Amino acid sequence: MKVLVTGGTGYIGSHTCVELIEAGHEPIVLDNLCNSNPESLHRVAQITGCDTIPFIEGDVCDENVLHEVFRKHPDIKCVIHFAGLKAVGESVSMPLQYYRNNLLSTMSLCRVMQQYGVKKIIFSSSATVYSGDNEMPLRESSKTGNCTNPYGWTKYMCEQILRDIAKADPEWSVVLLRYFNPVGAHKSGLIGEHPNGIPNNLMPFISQTAIGKREKLSVFGNDYDTHDGTGVRDYIHVVDLARGHVAAANYMMDHPGESVFNLGTGTGYSVLDMVTAFEQANGVNVPYVIAPRRDGDLATCYADPAKSRQELGWEAQFNQVDMCRDAWNWQSKNPNGYDA
Ligand code: NAD
Ligand code: UDP
Repeated sequence: MKVLVTGGTGYIGSHTCVELIEAGHEPIVLDNLCNSNPESLHRVAQITGCDTIPFIEGDVCDENVLHEVFRKHPDIKCVIHFAGLKAVGESVSMPLQYYRNNLLSTMSLCRVMQQYGVKKIIFSSSATVYSGDNEMPLRESSKTGNCTNPYGWTKYMCEQILRDIAKADPEWSVVLLRYFNPVGAHKSGLIGEHPNGIPNNLMPFISQTAIGKREKLSVFGNDYDTHDGTGVRDYIHVVDLARGHVAAANYMMDHPGESVFNLGTGTGYSVLDMVTAFEQANGVNVPYVIAPRRDGDLATCYADPAKSRQELGWEAQFNQVDMCRDAWNWQSKNPNGYDA
């Protein structure tokens, strides 16, 4: 089936395009390239043996662009909505940009989808919508809200908007996927994550330190109540995450209404676990120093993925070594990302 993939040139979107094509689907990508490079789609074509991936450069907030897309592709069956701004720290300093981009894109998209009778959407949500006072592991029924930054609130608010749309019109099918910590890259090393500037997230920081672009990793806090004092997270291989979207797209075809699923592995690793695993998997050194805790960080966060396993028939296949090996394969083959 034809699937509109907003944000499809980005990190998770490009990996999802590969998995969609390999499952026999046809992605059409809409992206304004504000945080990505269209070279990713050439690489997707290279991996999958396709000639080209249909691509429209445009802003999802712009309803005229969306009309053009749906007019040109009247056989789109569903939408996977990745497009969004995602840097937590930036969202604190530029809240308006985040609320405008992330909320308006979701609302414009749904308005236009409705006009063309396309009422199936998968939304990129995040574990950040869970309230910090939950017991671990996090279940889909765990408490949400009390977000610690505007980025998290945009995800929380988009979830609510989509939930209300599904409630108002029973023909809608809305799947909210709450991602834990996506890491790694396609095993070919052709596509991966290349953050602009200094990486905020742990894994790209580790890779860039290993390759010498950063002098050392700062480990944010070693006095948490965890097995080694450093923060524990549920890291998930991006290819597993991408396959979760294919499972959700199939599920959506005969499950109207709103559904929410965690996409995580259910296993938590600490910062130092990840550093050691990366060093051992790749035979490299990752120098680090212990730094103060980062504001807003939790000690521990990991998923209960049972509902995804039972209802989507999906579970993560890749382990920590795969994540570290594939992250390094991408980083070492593409030290400057998609820039030559
Ligand atoms: P990414 O920045 O690599 O991809 C997002 C893409 O959306 C980029 O290509 C960007 O150019 C595009 N985009 C942004 N605003 C747009 C707009 N208005 N119109 C058109 N294109 C637009 O990020 P990613 O890591 O691939 O994340 C994809 C989605 O998953 C995002 O919504 C993000 O918030 C969510 N998410 C990511 C993580 C993570 O750790 N990577 C975790 C949880 C949720
Ligand atoms: N982290 C760290 N140094 C960094 C980046 C992250 O110690 O340079 C830690 C962070 O405190 C958290 C874990 O790594 O415990 C994962 O952080 P990331 O930003 O990747 O994801 P999130 O905070 O969204 O879970």
